[in-house]
Amino acid sequence: MKGIFPIDKLEQIQTPYYYYDMELLRATLRSINEEIQKHNEFVVHYAIKANANPRILRVIREAGLGADCVSGGEIEAALKSGFPADKIVFAGVGKSDWEINLGLDHDIFSFNVESIPELEVINELAEKKGKVARIALRINPNVGAHTHANITTGLAENKFGIAMNDMETVIERASAMQNVCFVGLHFHIGSQILDMGDFEALCNRINELQIQLESHHIRVENINVGGGLGVDYQHPNRVPIPDFKAYFDTYARKLKLRPNQTLHFELGRSVVAQCGSLISRTLYIKEGASKKFCIIDAGMTDLIRPALYQAYHKIENISSEEPKETYDVVGPICESSDVFAKQIDLNGSHRGDLIAIRSAGAYGEIMASQYNCRRLPQGYSSDEI
Ligand SMILES: *Cc1c(COP(=O)(O)O)cnc(C)c1O
Repeated sequence: MKGIFPIDKLEQIQTPYYYYDMELLRATLRSINEEIQKHNEFVVHYAIKANANPRILRVIREAGLGADCVSGGEIEAALKSGFPADKIVFAGVGKSDWEINLGLDHDIFSFNVESIPELEVINELAEKKGKVARIALRINPNVGAHTHANITTGLAENKFGIAMNDMETVIERASAMQNVCFVGLHFHIGSQILDMGDFEALCNRINELQIQLESHHIRVENINVGGGLGVDYQHPNRVPIPDFKAYFDTYARKLKLRPNQTLHFELGRSVVAQCGSLISRTLYIKEGASKKFCIIDAGMTDLIRPALYQAYHKIENISSEEPKETYDVVGPICESSDVFAKQIDLNGSHRGDLIAIRSAGAYGEIMASQYNCRRLPQGYSSDEI
């Protein structure tokens, strides 16, 4: 073992691949469950899009979480892993007919609706099946999250949700339809949020909207505040489990729930990011004019976050005990953006050394592509190797 890694076992597997520390995943889920047990009205769904590896899904389902899906494929993955349909919520700006039909056939908990045209289509398709679809409206709360521009979703300029000004009109339209039943409001302001003030701002906005709706005698059965809690990418060892207490306490203190209302959460990254590492092997150390490149066999096709969002991941040479040297860590893909980190310190590195890219359990394996005709990375859990 070096740190959290069973090196001897990792050595046996063809790189690059994802390694999941299932003990950490289970400890993370226990932490979530401990916190929500203090609040009867809280219900947590796991955002499947963060990682849909079946082994991960099974453990999350066993912990009792529901599923948040953003495509028909994710609904299928959730059902296959045993998530009950009445714990599945389905969001997304562009749901196609087959995806809506799939949700209807399984009587999912709710469709999170993002526009009037979508509402009309759900009503029409539900009518054909003689069903009534439970719908929540995704409202754009125009609350900014202090995170990367590509992962804020709750500003008026973003494509997501229904504008607050249109909320009542859309609820009235929905109420006039025979085959949809309005049950809730849905929000999601962004991802990798570490400032509890952002969630407080969302709570304040929801409190205002509830008062506004009540003045029109509109009752809401459930509120869904989405996900977005961030993780500590700098210190995966020191902070392996996010501060769920601070997160849930913020909602408990700031959001004024009405009697019998339930409060739903959709956590993705915070559940799975820290348990996953991308394991790769050093191919070459290349001496440039002014720097050294550590060229590894994983690339942006295996983990796209650094190229897509300039995301930071802690990188470690888990084979070497040599003194630190400074490297640019790069992949083999024919793109200049295929860089994991520039000018970082690694233990002296050589061909064949194993390199671990940490905190890669969320938006890692699931975003892998076959660009350059690469093989998709496999995911291995600590339970099986
Ligand atoms: C992506 C997404 C989530 C999960 O976000 P995290 O930041 O991974 O917690 C939750 N809800 C919706 C609607 C999403 O699109």
